[in-house]
Amino acid sequence: MGKGATVPMQTSLPKAAAELLEQREFGLLIGGRQRTAGDGSTRDVIDPSTEQVIARVPEATPQDVADAVDAARRAQPAWAALGLRGRADVFEEIARRVVEHREEFAILDAVDAGNPIRAMRKDLEHAVQSIRDWPRLALSMQGATIPASVGNLHYTTHEPYGVVGRILAFNHPALFAITRILAALVVGNTVVVKPAAQTPLSALAFGATIADVVPEGVVNVVSGGAATGDAITTHPIVKRIGFTGSLATGLLIQKRAATVGAKHVSLELGGKNAMIVFPDADLEQAVAGARKGMNFEACQGQSCGSTSRIFVHDSLHDEFVDRYAASVEEITVGPAYNDGSQMGPVISDAHHERVSSYIRSARDDGARLVTGGGRPATLDTQLGYFLAPTIFSEVRPEMPVAREEVFGPVSSILRWSDYEAVLEQANAVEYGLTASIWTNNLHAAHATAHRLNAGYIWINDTTTHYWGTPFGGFKNSGVGREESVEELYSYCEQKVVHTILDDSTEAFGLRV
Ligand code: NAD
Repeated sequence: MGKGATVPMQTSLPKAAAELLEQREFGLLIGGRQRTAGDGSTRDVIDPSTEQVIARVPEATPQDVADAVDAARRAQPAWAALGLRGRADVFEEIARRVVEHREEFAILDAVDAGNPIRAMRKDLEHAVQSIRDWPRLALSMQGATIPASVGNLHYTTHEPYGVVGRILAFNHPALFAITRILAALVVGNTVVVKPAAQTPLSALAFGATIADVVPEGVVNVVSGGAATGDAITTHPIVKRIGFTGSLATGLLIQKRAATVGAKHVSLELGGKNAMIVFPDADLEQAVAGARKGMNFEACQGQSCGSTSRIFVHDSLHDEFVDRYAASVEEITVGPAYNDGSQMGPVISDAHHERVSSYIRSARDDGARLVTGGGRPATLDTQLGYFLAPTIFSEVRPEMPVAREEVFGPVSSILRWSDYEAVLEQANAVEYGLTASIWTNNLHAAHATAHRLNAGYIWINDTTTHYWGTPFGGFKNSGVGREESVEELYSYCEQKVVHTILDDSTEAFGLRV
């Protein structure tokens, strides 16, 4: 069990969070106005640190979604006509509002997602930076002139789809609600965004905060679960959907979208990401990279990019295991809104059980539990969905804990000695989101990067998303790329325009 500091548990929310929840009205944002669900439905929001219901939020009905899409459709032409400069001015106002309210959003993420507040403050810093960065990046978008015929002009433009639907995962609620709409907006689309059912608070608060700085209908926020998401997916006006979540839901969304027409659906899905430690790796840095790569201290390991399969060369294996265990045992697990907590609880009771079932199966399959494996001994209550950072060694590639996305604080170490075999094992999962290579041999590093089937590869690093570089996965980790100019183009339709510059249509090789 963890040796982190003993954490006095609170069974009620701290004052700042309680006041915030009392003062704030968590309404849907539709057409610039906050409102309840059309049929009055609500959903309980649970604090995973205490298991208490802390708020009730509207559960948007299909009619609410239809109203949101309609508001977005009406707002879109004027938003597009503002031009990039006009939209950049609105983005600057959004950035100011987020700066003003960032502590509030961080608290809300701590209370409904269970992510440590110190990590959520960092998320908000990234969000503000991102709001300011997208208009700059959009200025670099380019069309082409193409020499397709003699004496004429053929050029391309990029035009917004219209109304974009954005459906989000639970693990970085405010960061996603704010940043995952920006690429669509900056190129002239309007959006209907749905936060995850478990973590709606910061998205609804964000909607309320920007309602008077964004033209009405440009951003619409609808909270709800699968039925709300399905209403966005199957709305015929929503031609472009951006989804962040699990493989199973992503595949369902592709199918459901196709029932109403040809839609552009991009998917940011799961990962089962490999980290490979070579014999010449700097051991201390590799251990630090492994701890950071698990995202224990950002979101309890509930991250698509977590490097949760660590292949360590035989020559370093035992020392790596000892040092890695000692490092994660220092992590203080406790209520997410305590400044001293470095790691909070996982998202829900059901998810706690799911992660625990992988821990049980790894033990049953003969993996060695090095540390963790259950509730941290340092907690003085049985409330909250807490798990200690958990490390298994002697994991074999065929075990479920080494093949499937656990999406929790469980790290698997596999021993290797044969280079071809480790590459084969690293690639032998259905996902291909990130990978991490630890060596000082330049040739080995790049040769390995070349042969790994993953979309985002670090050499002697983990975790960090470098904004401006395309993020996304191979295989079942998704379709499309985000956080880069590629994402901007993905929110546009491309158009080609042919201009006849002389009076001879023969130049095309055909007569019309
Ligand atoms: P999830 O698939 O359960 O839910 C994601 C979203 O889809 C939620 O908003 C949910 O309400 C909605 N949804 C559920 N059923 C739906 C349906 N039938 N139609 C439309 N919408 C529906 O995923 P989750 O548990 O919130 O998130 C965890 C998963 O997300 C993990 O697999 C993780 O790897 C992945 N993820 C990927 C990235 C990435 O960038 N690749 C980032 C974060 C999370």
